[in-house]
Amino acid sequence: MSGGGDLDPATFNAYGHELIDWVTRYLERVEEYPVLSRSRPGDTRRALPPDPPARGEPVAQILADIDTIVMPGITHWNHPGFFAYFSTSGSAPGILGELVAAALNVNAMLWRTSPSATELEELSLDWLRRMIGLDGGWSGIITDTASMSTMLALAAAREAAGLDIRRLGLAGRSDLPALRLYCSEHAHSSVDKAAITLGLGHDNVVHVGADDAYRMRPDLLAGAIDADRARGFRPLAVVATVGTTSTTSIDPVAAIAAICGRERLWLHVDAAYGGVAAIVPELRGVLDGVALADSLVVNPHKWLFTPMDCSALFTRRPEALARAFSLVPEYLTSAGDPDVRNAMDYGLQLGRRFRALKLWMVIRAFGTEGLAARIRNHVALAGEFAGWVRAREGWEVVAPVPFSTVCFRHAPAGPGRDETNARNAAIMERVNASGRVFLSHTRLGERYVLRLAIGNLRTERRHVAEAWALLREAAERVAAPGSGPGA
Ligand code: PLP
Repeated sequence: MSGGGDLDPATFNAYGHELIDWVTRYLERVEEYPVLSRSRPGDTRRALPPDPPARGEPVAQILADIDTIVMPGITHWNHPGFFAYFSTSGSAPGILGELVAAALNVNAMLWRTSPSATELEELSLDWLRRMIGLDGGWSGIITDTASMSTMLALAAAREAAGLDIRRLGLAGRSDLPALRLYCSEHAHSSVDKAAITLGLGHDNVVHVGADDAYRMRPDLLAGAIDADRARGFRPLAVVATVGTTSTTSIDPVAAIAAICGRERLWLHVDAAYGGVAAIVPELRGVLDGVALADSLVVNPHKWLFTPMDCSALFTRRPEALARAFSLVPEYLTSAGDPDVRNAMDYGLQLGRRFRALKLWMVIRAFGTEGLAARIRNHVALAGEFAGWVRAREGWEVVAPVPFSTVCFRHAPAGPGRDETNARNAAIMERVNASGRVFLSHTRLGERYVLRLAIGNLRTERRHVAEAWALLREAAERVAAPGSGPGA
């Protein structure tokens, strides 16, 4: 190591090559790891000293600890048997993009602080916009997560309402009624968190009822808005979801947009998971009606093979976002760059990672047809899995499957509701303990429901078939007389 400075170039180069070999081997053999970490609480911390080293340690030692101490505590999101939550992928082009972004270490807060970072962000989001069928009236900004994107969109909605909240705030204002936000009972918790963060108050999030396919009911939405107006509340915005977290249901965006137009409410669409399906020509319809919305979030880090983190916030009203967030102190002025976009004007954060690089590399390396083919394949695999479940006595699919996620359960005749729920929880526990696959669950009404979400680049039909075999085997064990749900 050179005195006081960085690692010397020869050391960096040697370990750099070694690490690329390590990553290559890891991706090739990720299937050999248990997908869900078997680490117990505290294992990783206990294996490492509580005090930081006073003197620098050899890189070889640090890397060895990654193998022996860090890796056992990793749940492998890159594993082809990862079917929990929404599965994601660190694809090779994305990983290379992360490497270059880390090496460049630019802060893309202003155009001038790295013109390519701003312009690649504009370009790659313009590509993504066109890939999902939105017109040129939309512009995008990259954030870390859909939670942040939704929060920013709702801050723009709050600003666009013309209530002078940026200047005066919300507290202590006798002129302001409660501001109301509407989403379906199946919307993601990030909508509630945005309302909490923006000072709207959790109680002012109205969770509108859904139909039997888990889609927001426009008639109930219209009724809730009318009732709120009658009580003196001020409706502010609606969040519709394309691909809800539990069942991936698609809210009727066009009908919701019509209500928002009539009521002059901001419409934000959360398509964090489902939006990228619109890249597939025959699935373009999943974004029907979104052209009429004010903002939209799509997460490349979910189902577009881009490593964590990368969320795309699109809006037709970028000026409202800038009105909410632009604040330029003297030390950040760049008056000499008149016709450029400074990303810091469109959100909370000043410092910004060069996230666009990995997205740009993923889109280039796979191409729009390659991306569509991968997504199409996942949808087909989910359809096949749903077919196996439906065809098997004692099993049921409990929600439509518009994307690549299947909600299902083991519900043979005989056991009552609580027993069936307990059995499904036990089935999931058994299957996850195998280390071969990892599934998660949700609750629909009073039913405990299993979810199989296909979205990993490395998942093949054989992995889905293995999950199904493990599920059936676990169901037999759990149902065996005397074994009890947890046996
Ligand atoms: N919206 C939906 C529909 C989701 O399913 C999720 C997460 O799964 C989110 C938002 C939150 O995503 P993020 O982790 O990027 O904040």
